Amino acid sequence: PETITVQDLAARMAVRGAEVVKVLMKNGILATINQMLDADTAELVVAEFGHKVKRVSEADVEEGLEGAEDAPESLVPRPPIVTVMGHVDHGKTSLLDALRATDVAAKEAGGITQHIGAYQVDIGSGRPVTFIDTPGHAAFTAMRARGASVTDIVILVVAADDGVMPQTIEAISHAKAAKVPIVVAINKIDKPDANPERVKQELLNHDVVLEDYGGDVLGVPVSATKRINLDKLIEAVQLQAELLDLKANPNREAHGTIIEAKLDRGRGVVATVLVQRGTLRVGDIVVAGSQWGRVRALLNDRGQSVEEAGPAMPVEILGLDGVPEPGDLLVAVESEKRAREITEYRQRKRRDQAQVVATGARGSLEEMFS
Ligand code: GDP
Ligand code: MG
Repeated sequence: PETITVQDLAARMAVRGAEVVKVLMKNGILATINQMLDADTAELVVAEFGHKVKRVSEADVEEGLEGAEDAPESLVPRPPIVTVMGHVDHGKTSLLDALRATDVAAKEAGGITQHIGAYQVDIGSGRPVTFIDTPGHAAFTAMRARGASVTDIVILVVAADDGVMPQTIEAISHAKAAKVPIVVAINKIDKPDANPERVKQELLNHDVVLEDYGGDVLGVPVSATKRINLDKLIEAVQLQAELLDLKANPNREAHGTIIEAKLDRGRGVVATVLVQRGTLRVGDIVVAGSQWGRVRALLNDRGQSVEEAGPAMPVEILGLDGVPEPGDLLVAVESEKRAREITEYRQRKRRDQAQVVATGARGSLEEMFS
């Protein structure tokens, strides 16, 4: 239900909190200025002050943020976005590092690696793959909890000398719950005690059936540290991506998801964004969660300044007024006024929700004062 504190209501009518308290008292409601009022009570107060009542609902404020559906003919193929998951020590971080080093452009740039939370790899085929550079399940589930779905494909890393372990099983269930297809990287095949066949058989017990066993899950034996079959793994991801027929409209206002964000001493708020549709440009006014700002600069995964970022291209953005949360949606809007309206509404809602949680156990206003 819509709620507002006495104080906020007073602020929005430009009157003192005490005056609102007085009006409430006159109506038989005893309230402090931090008290939550439900929409009906608030409306009564506003009417008493002679103001016109306008309930601003989420739908009003956030209306149009989703934007129009993209017409089929506006859609063009986009790179797949991949998350690496698997049991601890099975080689997630090693694999992400090794995959990154396969990028042709990164090699040309002298292997300069900039950690921005996501990167793109092109092994020379002209078909890049985007990797989210934070392995593990926590990031994946945190994003999903915020309603974000950024991952198209999960690479499940299983060490060939260790086999299926508890976090392997957990990763499988996360991927299945999110309906994200799995590509299996059977890692550490360079080890003398590696047993890839055993891994494949163990995966059968968890309904991950590789092609060798008549299923449709692609599996590639690899070594992250010896850099064996990394190109084959990328090719398997591309094959899986083709089946998904991933497309987006680059010619519209940007919609994306915050991958990570921090406050940097010199640069201010720095957030990594994966654009999912549209194109993000320097100068755009964006809202991310309950923060907003004008994009001052965009930096690619090699730390180079770029003018724009299209679908599935990871970029760091500078210019937000506060630090958004991973999983927050980012949307480009038409004006600063609109950005302020949305963020103020969201901040208020977030604060109100926190207070409702804090006071919730005490029951409703009516119950308290009837
Ligand atoms: P994570 O916990 O899944 O991120 O695993 P790490 O990438 O940190 O790897 C754990 C250990 O396994 C490290 O000592 C790596 O050097 C080692 N490792 C990772 N991949 C391979 C591989 O392909 N072969 C061998 N022999 N060791 C590997
Ligand atoms: Mg790791």
